[in-house]
Amino acid sequence: MSTTTLKGQPLDRPVMDSMLRRRMFYTPSFEIYGGVAGLYDYGPPGCALLSNIIDTWRKHFVLEEDMLEVDCPALTPAEVLKTSGHVDKFADWMCKDPKNGDIIRADHFVEEILEARLKGDKEARGVKVEEKEEDPKKKKKKVKGTEAIKLDDAVVKEYEEILAKIDNYGGPELGELITKYDLKNPATGVLPTPPVAFNLMFQTAIGPSSNLPGYLRPETAQGQFVNFAKLLDFNQQQMPFASASIGKSYRNEISPRSGLLRVREFLMAEIEHYVDPQGGKQHHRFDEVKDVELVLLNRHTQLAGQTHVQKVAIGKAVADGTVDNETLGYFLARIHLFLEKIGVDQTKIRFRQHMANEMAHYAADCWDAELLTSYGWIECVGCADRSAYDLTVHAKKTGASLMVRERLAQPITVEEWQVELDKKKFGPHFKKDGKTIEAAVEALTQEQREALAQDLKADGKITVDVEGVGNGKVEISKDLITIERRTRTENTREYTPNVIEPSFGIGRIIYSLIEHNYWTRGSDGGDEARCVLSFPPTVAPTKVLLVPLSGHESFKPLVKYLSLKLRKLGVSSRVDDSSASIGKRYSRNDELGTPLGITIDFQSVQDKTYTLRDRDSTKQVRADEATILAAIKSLVEGEKVWADVEKELPAFEGQEAEVPVR
Ligand code: AMP
Repeated sequence: MSTTTLKGQPLDRPVMDSMLRRRMFYTPSFEIYGGVAGLYDYGPPGCALLSNIIDTWRKHFVLEEDMLEVDCPALTPAEVLKTSGHVDKFADWMCKDPKNGDIIRADHFVEEILEARLKGDKEARGVKVEEKEEDPKKKKKKVKGTEAIKLDDAVVKEYEEILAKIDNYGGPELGELITKYDLKNPATGVLPTPPVAFNLMFQTAIGPSSNLPGYLRPETAQGQFVNFAKLLDFNQQQMPFASASIGKSYRNEISPRSGLLRVREFLMAEIEHYVDPQGGKQHHRFDEVKDVELVLLNRHTQLAGQTHVQKVAIGKAVADGTVDNETLGYFLARIHLFLEKIGVDQTKIRFRQHMANEMAHYAADCWDAELLTSYGWIECVGCADRSAYDLTVHAKKTGASLMVRERLAQPITVEEWQVELDKKKFGPHFKKDGKTIEAAVEALTQEQREALAQDLKADGKITVDVEGVGNGKVEISKDLITIERRTRTENTREYTPNVIEPSFGIGRIIYSLIEHNYWTRGSDGGDEARCVLSFPPTVAPTKVLLVPLSGHESFKPLVKYLSLKLRKLGVSSRVDDSSASIGKRYSRNDELGTPLGITIDFQSVQDKTYTLRDRDSTKQVRADEATILAAIKSLVEGEKVWADVEKELPAFEGQEAEVPVR
């Protein structure tokens, strides 16, 4: 899929990619050793961009909502991830090419071949199609299966329907699609083997004796869940509340690709918001966001094989049940506002609901914030209602109480069937099995207790199912047990909170943000197109470029002085005092996304006035030092935009003073 740049030009991804590498936004790791697929290093502008995005994320979520941030190890004992379900289920479907041994991710394989066939069909019908090539060097080579072959209309429809719900297929279904549509690997011309599950976690052993198996975490969530009781305590038992964590996660992706979009080590920022499941999971700040309009692609549309979206206020989407509850809706809106704040193109955001098969069995509802890039729609933030699953499984496994106890304003009386054991006789009677049988009796439901009370009355004994004792049936006589209907007063209520989890993949957001803010300026007669990255000043890697007109000695103290002033204001700046022309120096920094530039000329030496330049419009204003610094600060903090500054300060359209002013 091809997208256009910020200024509506077709995106030339190879040019953009080469600029990103050249300016060291990010670069393949261990490259001089040949590199490793799916591992990337961030260079100086990439690091600054990343840290500014994280800073904005912290302010937008953690500070704004008093979230409790934790930082937990990536190295995780296997037992924790076994309990969470990751050891058994955190897998993708993988096929092998029997001829060349290539390992293929099944869903991507089906998707790529069907897309290629649809593209071939369009070409055969004379419809213009845009290239979707990863590697510019491959552009000339025609891949088998993309030939211009016209398909039946019915087949086109089938393919489109499959693609619309590709995320809903499991391994066996993908296998069936491969056979049904004869999806041969274009590289070898043979069918791949049936898909098998491949666990995505990196396994390791903790400690020198290697007897504690472990994994590198695939998400930060589990560290937060296992701390739930301590966090609740920290929060003085107050509900609802959220924890948050920012840290690296690891996934042994089958086929890492598309730069930062599918990697094996990446930064995640995750929130676990704990909410009382009773009362419809309302959110006390929902009113603040109810009018935020989101573009939604719901599950029914996808299951019908379509991809059309609806733009709707989140208040309405929750009211009509499209989005399951207020808390989930609140976070979808907050995610949207965050993406907008950091400079993601609003017209390239959609929220896609998971289909039933795609969602974990325990999840109540799940939406992904997807951003449109030249690689298609990319899931950048997941937002799931995980119900009480995680806290329940960890509590069951460890015996820790991961519940909330709340004092009831009004005590309630409960009428129920209560079981009482005669402990003095029960233990000696059942000896070593006593505890197991007692646990089975305690676990009896109200309905079972009622029925057993009748048996006890009629027969003087009951039979209870107890796994692992004798033949699984245990008889208990009436001298050991009583079952009666009694009334009890409750002063507290106990419940396991439900969890709403917004989960951000920072690398994917960074890449999409770069694409959304990238454009090229006319080449001014030169050969090179001049790239610009129009990041909002708040997230731009460097905020101000200091440009002395020339290497003249009289500028040096001013450059030093201004750098210090900006540093004191907390505004990052860089100096370009090279001998290149002013225009060239600005261009080099437009590429890095530096939004503002101060030119220091001979007039500045005389009266400490400076020109301030805007990256996007290249317009300039001129004013005294205090005014310029105040304007910079308000722009960088997002209080003003360039249009405000342009209105307030005199435009500078002349030439900088190129000779000493007398
Ligand atoms: P998930 O837990 O699979 O919903 O992933 C949460 C978020 O992590 C996604 O929305 C992505 O932004 C990010 N993510 C997942 N897998 C990868 C990957 N292999 N490379 C980069 N980001 C990823």
